[in-house]
Amino acid sequence: MATGNINVSVENIFPLIKKFLYSDHEIFLRELVSNATDATLKLKHLTGIGEAKIEFGDPIIEIKIDKEAKKLHIIDQGLGMTAEEVKKYINEVAFSGAEEFLEKYKDSAKDAGIIGHFGLGFYSAFMVASKVEIITKSYKDEPAAHWTCDGSPKFTLEENDKTERGTEIILHIAEDSEEFLEENRISELLTKYNKFMPVPIKFGTRTETQKTGEGEDEKEESFEVDNIINNPNPAWTKQPSDLKEEDYKNFYRELYPTQFEEPIFNIHLNVDYPFNLTGILYFPKLTNEMNFQKDRVQLYQNQVFVTDNVEGIVPEFLTMLRGVIDSPDIPLNVSRSYLQADGNVKKISSYITRKVADKLNSLFKENREDFESKWNDIKIVIEYGMLSEEKFFEKAEKFALYPTVDGTYYTFEELQEKLKDTQTDKEDKLVLLYASDKDAQHSYIQDAKAKGYEVLLLDSPIVSHLIQKLEGSKEKISFARVDADHIDNLIKKDEEQISKLSDEEKTSLKETLENVIPSSTYTLQLEAMDSNAAPFIITQPEFMRRMKE
Ligand code: ADP
Ligand code: MG
Repeated sequence: MATGNINVSVENIFPLIKKFLYSDHEIFLRELVSNATDATLKLKHLTGIGEAKIEFGDPIIEIKIDKEAKKLHIIDQGLGMTAEEVKKYINEVAFSGAEEFLEKYKDSAKDAGIIGHFGLGFYSAFMVASKVEIITKSYKDEPAAHWTCDGSPKFTLEENDKTERGTEIILHIAEDSEEFLEENRISELLTKYNKFMPVPIKFGTRTETQKTGEGEDEKEESFEVDNIINNPNPAWTKQPSDLKEEDYKNFYRELYPTQFEEPIFNIHLNVDYPFNLTGILYFPKLTNEMNFQKDRVQLYQNQVFVTDNVEGIVPEFLTMLRGVIDSPDIPLNVSRSYLQADGNVKKISSYITRKVADKLNSLFKENREDFESKWNDIKIVIEYGMLSEEKFFEKAEKFALYPTVDGTYYTFEELQEKLKDTQTDKEDKLVLLYASDKDAQHSYIQDAKAKGYEVLLLDSPIVSHLIQKLEGSKEKISFARVDADHIDNLIKKDEEQISKLSDEEKTSLKETLENVIPSSTYTLQLEAMDSNAAPFIITQPEFMRRMKE
């Protein structure tokens, strides 16, 4: 038997990184902007704790396209790197300077919003570039460094005369990636991944006009301003107490500029224990047709967009919502299957479910009338949640509503309390009559109402599943659609009730019995009759009917 070490050489790793690390080449820009952001946030932190004695100012990140030279520049004013640091952080693949920073400043920097994690992000540049240059000047008093690499394991490192603090990454865009020299493409990527990142990102300039002077002297002046593509302080990063209803609505419009409908309400998530999670979820207006669009909840890590395909990451019923979830504990650089299996992600998922249930419960308790008026628009999400998540089902018991055809809303408990004496069958089972279509089942509804029964209106497309679930989880209830059978077969009045009648009542009944409509012919008559004038029907015990014949 022979044993030995497998020899991993960098020559072999590079093509692997290029091919398999990321399924999407476009994320190189997200990675480089994330590094530029980290560099800025690190410097901010070091300035804050007095370790960097510099003027922090208002640093921005700039993206520039040089179409002619086929270069893309990412420039930041962050902490920069010394030559030694370039060797340490860049030349060592899979060594994360971000992790090292968080480790070193464990206590003070844990909320600094540092994005980096695996020490692989930088190399994603080689997915689109044939050559990469780094020109960087540290905030420390040391000469700038210039690093060049063409994607082979060989690099050059020399001094440079850059004087401003910060780092410039220059990508020599490869022939097969020239789309990344198009302004529209870069703009699209910045909007997708970087729209809410915490450091202002400049991409070109735009013209603004301003009116000056009064009356006759009034003229329009136009001038060029930096085109900042992001909102560094999105609503979800703020305290709920600092936000008004209008701010939430504005943020919704910012997230979905093409969506005209207003959300019904929102849930602001804001926790730092047992893990960090912020976000805002919106309940959109949903129709009964289940043709809602999924993939509308966006997942962020420290304000960097990760994905809007959250299936398998949050419970499915929550994918019907919209909004943002942000957690530093969501890994950025990994595949979906990894995300789905990740323990943190699972915890986050069940936390969100609980939060959504709690919020619904408090909305219900605080203003029931308002909650009832929203019910029709939100019931699909809730009913779907009750069906698919046991934890949610248990919580939803308190606020899930069952409206009657007349627009009274009951909770299940209220319904049980109200109907327990009047709407049971022989075995004392509570019979819940419901209609799924008010118009089509009109006459049946009228008939049941004429007998003093409550008829629920359960018309969402998943209602049959929900009914099954409820019947399975509760003892002694059964649902019956009003048109399933003759009403007297659906609710079997206790025959004892007749014998409970007083003698007087029995005598008066004798006369009406002449007119009793036998139940077999009744159904036919029902179609012809004016439902408003539904006849009063008296059940006739079998032996009485026979006696008369
Ligand atoms: P990670 O961000 O996960 O740490 P990367 O491969 O993206 O890994 O980057 C490696 C390291 O290189 C960073 O941690 C940082 O120390 C350094 N670095 C990369 N880009 C910059 C930059 N623009 N300014 C300063 N340092 C940088
Ligand atoms: Mg990084």
